[in-house]
Amino acid sequence: MGDTVRTDVLIVGAGPAGLMAAAWMAQTGVQAMIIDQKSHHTRCGRADGLESRTLEILDSFGLADRVWAEANHTVEIALWGGTVDGKLQRQSVTANSQPGWSRFYESTLSQAKVEEYLMEYVRGRGNVEVRRETTPTTLEIDYDTIDDHSKFPIRMNLESMASLPKPYFNGMDTPGSDTSSEPYSDDSGYAGMDTVVEAKYIVGCDGAHSWLRKQLGLELEGESSSDFWGVLDIIPLTNFPDIRKRSIVKTKHGTLMMIPRERKLVRIYVELHPDVAARYREEQDGEVLMNEVEKIMWPYIMKTKHIDWSTAYTVGQRVCRKIGLHNRIFLAGDAIHTHSPKSGQGMNVSMQDTFNLGWKLASVIQGTLHPKILETYQQERLPVAERLIALDQRICRGMCSRRDVDNETSHGHFHEDHKRAMEQENSSASGLAVIYEPNLLVASTTPCVAGAKPANDEMALSHSKRSLATNIQVGARIPSMLIINQSDAQPCHLQQILPSTGQWNLIIFGADIANPRQMWRLSHLEETLGQPESVIQRLNNQASMTRRGVACVGMYLVHCADRLGIELQDLPTIFRPWTEDRGVDYSKVWVDEEAYHHTGGGQLYKSFGIGPEGCMVLLRPDQHLAFISDMDDVKGLERFLMSITPEECRAPEHC
Ligand code: FAD
Repeated sequence: MGDTVRTDVLIVGAGPAGLMAAAWMAQTGVQAMIIDQKSHHTRCGRADGLESRTLEILDSFGLADRVWAEANHTVEIALWGGTVDGKLQRQSVTANSQPGWSRFYESTLSQAKVEEYLMEYVRGRGNVEVRRETTPTTLEIDYDTIDDHSKFPIRMNLESMASLPKPYFNGMDTPGSDTSSEPYSDDSGYAGMDTVVEAKYIVGCDGAHSWLRKQLGLELEGESSSDFWGVLDIIPLTNFPDIRKRSIVKTKHGTLMMIPRERKLVRIYVELHPDVAARYREEQDGEVLMNEVEKIMWPYIMKTKHIDWSTAYTVGQRVCRKIGLHNRIFLAGDAIHTHSPKSGQGMNVSMQDTFNLGWKLASVIQGTLHPKILETYQQERLPVAERLIALDQRICRGMCSRRDVDNETSHGHFHEDHKRAMEQENSSASGLAVIYEPNLLVASTTPCVAGAKPANDEMALSHSKRSLATNIQVGARIPSMLIINQSDAQPCHLQQILPSTGQWNLIIFGADIANPRQMWRLSHLEETLGQPESVIQRLNNQASMTRRGVACVGMYLVHCADRLGIELQDLPTIFRPWTEDRGVDYSKVWVDEEAYHHTGGGQLYKSFGIGPEGCMVLLRPDQHLAFISDMDDVKGLERFLMSITPEECRAPEHC
């Protein structure tokens, strides 16, 4: 028998979802453990699509530069159809994703690399214990202490199958070789021993066949269809002109989708007749799938001497409708939604689930936010999972030519709904247009004209005012625009000043602060927000007592006055904080104007729809807008923040 250990958060499964949860724990200094039954991360195959929002999220952890540099960027999409007389014709070439949605666009990089970089990040921080070749065997929940968030009501037995020494992989990147560069499979010293873990919270990221989900008696609801698909990663030998574009090809022989990858690889999804699928399953030979590819691509040549990975699957769209229990147990990723890989969302939505959950858990564990905020995980992520399933059904319907079998002339025809679904796949479905409904962490929006008096105080206190910034929306992630630093004129993307640290951010869009009225409003903010008894100052004091400042509120000013007509020292001190050892913090004031050496500056106010009155916007640690109000509505802002603060922190004397 091994020891009994305590951890704040136990994460089951070290795939993309589990690792994103672990990244939050690592970043916010929460004691956590992540376990996985495998001795190593994914080595090849599986998911490869990284959507724009996922890249923004990876960037917020400082990981996007590396991923972006190695990934293949999927800029264009080509649709090809087979005519009745058997010719293959290009029908259209368009942008793969709508320009302007994000500074990133859809890219492909193997799941292996994404898991590797996240694991490096997690190991680099030191507060998350990683145990591989470890599975849970029992789950007990103490319902007597479940509502006391200082207690550890979850008990789990872990069985370790690990035996030392471990194989060492050198990280060589040759296609087909083992791409793992994670040298140790278990750093716990518990190899071969069983352990009892007592945890405050559990996050189940253990994939489509989730052990945890089954222990909880929860099921995936939905259907599988009889549509079979093969997947191949190959280096193609071909004369097909659009091989480096994302291409969808529909002929009377079937449908396939090609996605160019890093290292000259191409991912191919190919529709299979059930007999072919059965043969592949028996022989496990990628050549069986290549034969189908060649038939569809004729008269173009499509051969390969290198098959990196192949598999076959049936399409099934399922969702688990309970994803958070007792504010203690959470399920994420494939454990709660399974679908076909054709919409390229699996790895993305899975990571985005735990990106949503991680900061909430950290804030509750650090005592800076009320445990009831954990309810918002289910409220926010279940609708995303449901929309994902609906979108995948539309894409699968459009892709499957066997459904067109009775209609000879429809071969090679792309239905309008299929085209629309593909457009949405790269915008709304990719997380960019996810809008969380009003809840504890998203203030409701009422129409209210800038500067106009609200009907009553209640309205003024608790409602966000959309018309102040007509093109950004409460509940959505804030888009990124180029801004210029007031002090050194360095350009920066708005999202880059909002890294994933667990901090909230209050952005004052002060408009033309050369206008005395706007400057007066800024000074008034100093008088309210800057006071030691203000809610923000109290939250910041409370957060400074935790190790990483989780749930403190950072303040920024983004104005659109002539930068050279404004002096930093004339601005209120809340925007130029000063410490004895580090002097002035110059990172708080930004300007919406053109940069000397970059294009794209000076567009933020117009793009966000912010008028001359300006506004203030409160962003959650995941960059989603929680609250918008006019610059004078400090009471409304404070009431919103108080509603999510633990009771013991609400009275000024306690913080
Ligand atoms: P997973 O990546 O499945 O991670 C779950 C982790 O939990 C695994 O590391 C597993 O070892 C671990 N685990 C499971 N049970 C236990 C247990 N009892 N104890 C401890 N650890 C456990 N997506 C695409 O977009 N394109 C594709 O072509 C594609 N192909 C795929 C092929 C296969 C064979 C599979 C399985 C998936 C494929 N996917 C594909 C889906 C994509 O990989 C997933 O959507 C994505 O990995 C989901 O991430 P996750 O972290 O939720 O789950």
